[in-house]
Amino acid sequence: MKVKLARTAGFCMGVRRAMELVLTAANQKDDRPLYTYGPLIHNTQVLDLLKTKSVTVLKDLGGLSGGRIVIRAHGIPPAERAKLKETGMEILDATCPKVARVQSLIRLHTRKGHECIIVGDSDHAEVIGLMGYSVTPPWVIQEASQVAELPDLQKPFVVAQTTQNDAVFGDVVDALKAKFPNLLVFDTICNATHLRQKEVRSFKDQVDAMVVVGGYHSGNTQRLAEVARESGLKTFHVETEKDLDLKALEPMSCIGVTAGASTPNWMIQNVVRTIERVRGQGESSLLNGCRKVFESLVLASGLVAGGAFCFAYAAGFLAGPPLEIVFPFIAMLYLYAVHGLNRIVDKGAGVYNDPEGAEFLTTHRGVLLGGGIAAAAAALLLALTRGLPTFLALAAFIVVGLIYSLPIFPDRLRSRRTYFRIKDIPGSRSLADAFARVAVINVLPLFSTDPGPYSAVAVSMVFVLLLSYGRSGLFDLLHLQGDLIVGKETLPLTIGQKQATLLLRVDLGFLGVFLVVSGFAGWAGPFAFWMLIPVGGMILCLAAFEKRWIRSALIMEALVESNFFLAGIIAFCAYLFR
Ligand code: SF4
Repeated sequence: MKVKLARTAGFCMGVRRAMELVLTAANQKDDRPLYTYGPLIHNTQVLDLLKTKSVTVLKDLGGLSGGRIVIRAHGIPPAERAKLKETGMEILDATCPKVARVQSLIRLHTRKGHECIIVGDSDHAEVIGLMGYSVTPPWVIQEASQVAELPDLQKPFVVAQTTQNDAVFGDVVDALKAKFPNLLVFDTICNATHLRQKEVRSFKDQVDAMVVVGGYHSGNTQRLAEVARESGLKTFHVETEKDLDLKALEPMSCIGVTAGASTPNWMIQNVVRTIERVRGQGESSLLNGCRKVFESLVLASGLVAGGAFCFAYAAGFLAGPPLEIVFPFIAMLYLYAVHGLNRIVDKGAGVYNDPEGAEFLTTHRGVLLGGGIAAAAAALLLALTRGLPTFLALAAFIVVGLIYSLPIFPDRLRSRRTYFRIKDIPGSRSLADAFARVAVINVLPLFSTDPGPYSAVAVSMVFVLLLSYGRSGLFDLLHLQGDLIVGKETLPLTIGQKQATLLLRVDLGFLGVFLVVSGFAGWAGPFAFWMLIPVGGMILCLAAFEKRWIRSALIMEALVESNFFLAGIIAFCAYLFR
């Protein structure tokens, strides 16, 4: 089945910020209890997950005297904030800045003597919080028909709950203006909500039905489903993939998927994957078969291995003759083994980052483990054909590659050691991967072959290091949500997503400039210019991630790896036409 996933689906900025704050606090080595004041978001699965991380939901403050407490994105009334302070607990304020802006607006205007009207759900936590900021009692209404019940107001102003249906808000404002010509209007519906609803409406003529993913009690998800229905789309609101009515989807050929602001990415991916497996109307079995083969190739690290071969071939070509074809094969087998085995050891975050990959790993664990060991053995055998030093060097690289994910301190020391494994060191994953590639692609051949010009070898090393770093850094960004949940210390989580993205831009930009300079200076020959193409491809992948052009982890992985295939194909063409 064809699936069209909304670019705006999933966590909004405020929810992401709140989740990051809670998970960072939960991952800290701090013995004080951690509470959220009310459920952090309206999503049962996320709340269950937080429970496993010892985050307790508090409904009242009775009998509490210590610990840390998180104010959720909806915010709270000032009176409750004062009570929280009295408990002496450390307050972690995750009130969304956009909600805080509405709170300030209400306080400012009611202090000036204006009367406040809020369009929203009076039982919703955000609205309860907003009401607390009004110095005179506010009016809360949900629809235009309630305007008639309002008393005569002298200086009214209206605001909206940030996740309000914008069409409903428009109707209410029209009715209010008819009654109060001097009405002040503040459209405080969050832009994230506007865009989400607008995108759903734009799906009207593009899909046969709409699946809205999110908690059944989540107001913004309910409203999203309401918007989809109002647009005339057959709409299914589901919490998880288990709630999908697959029989009802079979007569269709394209399904739109969107999700509420409190729905995590892994839940969206699970729903998308389940729908994709349904054989849609008019879908050929050949196409379906090809897609399955492609998926299996990506999931079984086949693409990583193929990409490694092509990359090593291109890097060897860049380093200048002689290029021995055995080394790209060794690189392919080595990276397949290390990548596959590390995935098996380290599958915790995969459940959230790439549910499809995690499921594949669980089902085919034995085959993947056997394949990884066989690949490592084959790489060693090939290395042996190039002499003992090459064999020993590769054996050392394999050991280093494997201990990356393994504990370096015994279990009993775990609580005292922040860095339990090498990969726990902040930012180590991207660097380790980049250096592993330099080791096997650039350094290993030096043990048995006379290198080409040293300048070309150095250019090739820089090329491999920076492009590999770009690849791993991009995956770190892609895996942010799952890594945060399991408490991994990747670079984006240590220095922030914006800074990590900037770093990648600098990395790839510098590599581009470096290749141009190397080409003109004659350090590496004109082939250096051709390698700008895969570098440009990687920059495009980074843009695709930032702009949310592609949401599927599988497709993103395939696109990133395709740059290495591209490098290899260009090198092969250069070899043919040299
Ligand atoms: S929907 Fe908008 S206002 Fe509400 S939490 Fe998300 S970003 Fe903030």
